[in-house]
Amino acid sequence: MALLTYLKSELSGLFDLLLPPTCAFCRAEAPTPSPAGICPNCLTQLLPLPAARCSRCALPYPTEAGGPHLCETCLRRPPDFSGVVAVGVYQDLLRESIHRFKYEQSIHLDHPLGTLLAQRLAIEATDFRPELILPVPLHPRRLRERGYNQSLLLARRLGKELRVPTEPRRLRRIRPTPPQQGLPLAARQRNLRGAFTLSAPLRGEKILLIDDVMTTGATLRECAQVLKAGGAGEILIAVLGRAARHH
Ligand SMILES: [Zn+2]
Ligand SMILES: [Zn+2]
Repeated sequence: MALLTYLKSELSGLFDLLLPPTCAFCRAEAPTPSPAGICPNCLTQLLPLPAARCSRCALPYPTEAGGPHLCETCLRRPPDFSGVVAVGVYQDLLRESIHRFKYEQSIHLDHPLGTLLAQRLAIEATDFRPELILPVPLHPRRLRERGYNQSLLLARRLGKELRVPTEPRRLRRIRPTPPQQGLPLAARQRNLRGAFTLSAPLRGEKILLIDDVMTTGATLRECAQVLKAGGAGEILIAVLGRAARHH
């Protein structure tokens, strides 16, 4: 299945070379698409994170007052990651594109979305040189249902762009979690306890941990905790969309 996914992704790249370039998001003809393969109109619809956000988990604040500072959750319980880089706020066009990528088999979107994320990292995390890229894993049952792990596709794309090794099975999901929607962070956190494990210990490597969306951050907090306990060095999170609190 992984091979098939890979071939599909590579073949869609081949078609891109044969046909006139079209925007990966809106499919309009784009004579001069951006490096990510997106037309200028779609690019302007991607809302970057506001400057006023949590300096740790990147939670966007509703107003610019106060500038960047720690949110209440990070103040009470500092996460094991040092920061979060995101393409933008999880809404509108970015949200629709992530949805297509994740649930509608549009795996070719790994290229534009991964490139956008690599561009963000180049701007916001210039000092962070990861030694290992790890995707947030899906439980094997979920993986069979969906056929692919969107976070792994993204991690591979970033690995290529940054020339950093990606290990799909280092961090594993050993327990499925019940649906988390509507639950507060503390309850989500409880549900996730023991859901992840490392297949082999780490030796202080700087880790770039990849997921498609960060909502409450419960999953990424739990993964980072498992990585840290397993010997990871600094951990930075990279996601496509960062949800504001009321999403
Ligand atoms: Zn477009
Ligand atoms: Zn925070």
